[in-house]
Amino acid sequence: MPWFKYEMPYPGIFSISEPFSLVDPRFSLNTVNCYLVIGTTSAALIDTGMGIGDLHQFIRKLTALPIQVLNTHYHWDHVGGNHQFNQCAIHHLEAELLNKTPSLDYSLLRKSLSQLKKRQQLPDYTDPDRYKIYPYEAKTLLNDNDVISLGHRNLHAIHTPGHSPGHLCFLDDQTGCLFTGDTAYMGPIYSCFSLADPEAYYKSCQRLNRLKTVQAICPGHNQIIKEPKWLHTLAQFAERAVTGQIQGINNQGYVQSKVYQNTQAGFSINLPL
Ligand SMILES: [Zn+2]
Repeated sequence: MPWFKYEMPYPGIFSISEPFSLVDPRFSLNTVNCYLVIGTTSAALIDTGMGIGDLHQFIRKLTALPIQVLNTHYHWDHVGGNHQFNQCAIHHLEAELLNKTPSLDYSLLRKSLSQLKKRQQLPDYTDPDRYKIYPYEAKTLLNDNDVISLGHRNLHAIHTPGHSPGHLCFLDDQTGCLFTGDTAYMGPIYSCFSLADPEAYYKSCQRLNRLKTVQAICPGHNQIIKEPKWLHTLAQFAERAVTGQIQGINNQGYVQSKVYQNTQAGFSINLPL
């Protein structure tokens, strides 16, 4: 069974997903996704997943163009494959965080990986006991409103703090695909980790909702959202949750948080207790 699953949902855009829940089931997220955006002179790889298997070789089968890696944020499940690439860019507020050894529960992750190995679900040559996330020194630092040119195709960087301080979303000017990382997806959205900022989070959602050209939401977890109006629901609901206009439920499970569930729109906002 191939580790990386891919499809081309929009012209020149590959979505590549890994089974996140099989590696870390604690967060109730099905997949973690990265995206390859093909220009005429270069391609952008938005995030690099969990660092399991050879993502670089996999990408090379899809394009021969030079690759610029753009990280949405520094969390391990989005930067795990960075070390396989020559250069990765991240928002300047997260360069130092990216270059630190992340404190992770490796015993849990390695246990999941060895179970997958027994079931022959891991890519070849993956040694569960040596799995780790490498610190990475970003060569390019990004700012809000930066434009990344791929030749006849531009990605616009949008600083969306909240989930993390330097979180970036990217908007493709060719298709209107908005790559939202961990700021917007269907499933439990976490604004409760260390360095999270709930107030900044809902304001970031409102900014995304004000973008005029969004056609689809390509998130860092779970499925693509084809209805841009969903962002309006998210922005409105996030504001009501953060400003105390609706009631949350205390969750004392692994991620201790106050959960604001929007069942109809398929997401929840998880805020600090
Ligand atoms: Zn994530």
